[in-house]
Amino acid sequence: MDVQAAELKARAEKLRAKYPEVAFKSFLEEIPPDTYVYLTDLKVTRGDRYIETSDIHYFCESDGCNGVRIFRCAETVFIDMSWRFEFLKYVCRNCGTQSVRFAIAICQRTAPADSPTLWATCIKLGQVPSFGPQTPARLISLIGPDRDLFLQGRRAENRGLGIGAFAYYRRVVENQKNRIISEIARVAKTVGCSEETSKLFAAAKGETQFSKSMMMVKDVIPQTLLIRGQNPLTLLHSALSKGLHSPEMTDERCLQLAKSIRTVLGELADRASEALKNDQEIQSALNALMAIPSESNEATGGGDGQSGAALAGKEPHEAT
Ligand SMILES: [Zn+2]
Repeated sequence: MDVQAAELKARAEKLRAKYPEVAFKSFLEEIPPDTYVYLTDLKVTRGDRYIETSDIHYFCESDGCNGVRIFRCAETVFIDMSWRFEFLKYVCRNCGTQSVRFAIAICQRTAPADSPTLWATCIKLGQVPSFGPQTPARLISLIGPDRDLFLQGRRAENRGLGIGAFAYYRRVVENQKNRIISEIARVAKTVGCSEETSKLFAAAKGETQFSKSMMMVKDVIPQTLLIRGQNPLTLLHSALSKGLHSPEMTDERCLQLAKSIRTVLGELADRASEALKNDQEIQSALNALMAIPSESNEATGGGDGQSGAALAGKEPHEAT
């Protein structure tokens, strides 16, 4: 009978879901909501029913910090063999003004016999501010009218919903191909592209098929927009070339591709914006310099006879 019970127990254990084993800190920092994990490093404090809450690294948005800082939670968590629901408030140790809140469900589970720490099954029910890095403003401005669709994709990606994230990003890139091409064309213009290249960009915008339009301009993309030597348009094209119906497009593969699409778009937006900003700075510097001789000319031809005479007597290269 005992043998039978042991066998049944072993079989039940095998059937039990297996979740990723993570440390409490990594769980709060890196795991999106709705994902079950085993916490494997819980330390008991205050008797044997409360566990410590480890410090975490989190982005602090306050003006004084504006970077990753240590956040600390003043509370401990009660732990039990039944599910418990807890709110944790973490506060930035540096400025003390910014906080992040997590809602978690936690249930102690039997740890391996040799484990010096407690184990628990845990799931994040939500967090404020929401999980995942902020979407840069430059990227939002590149995709323009499809901002909301893009943010839906970001939410799907944060929650590990690969097929959803891929489909949203794909829609955004295909819808906004003309904005993307226009931005690249603007950069090409600042680096002095030929008339022929400008016409090619215009023709690509007129092309309705996404892949054709990408292929039309992939060879004339300015050097400054390459991402570690790789052409962003070729990267986007290859990421988007597989249809969702293809058997190799598993949820995991879609998530991988969705991340790549977002990264390439972000890099492209950054590089284009930098190139245009630099061009503007150079242009205003040139404008300022070019204004100097015309002021002198005005002085020469104007009522100030003295300085005009003085200038007239000297060639510019003689000036010391
Ligand atoms: Zn702070």
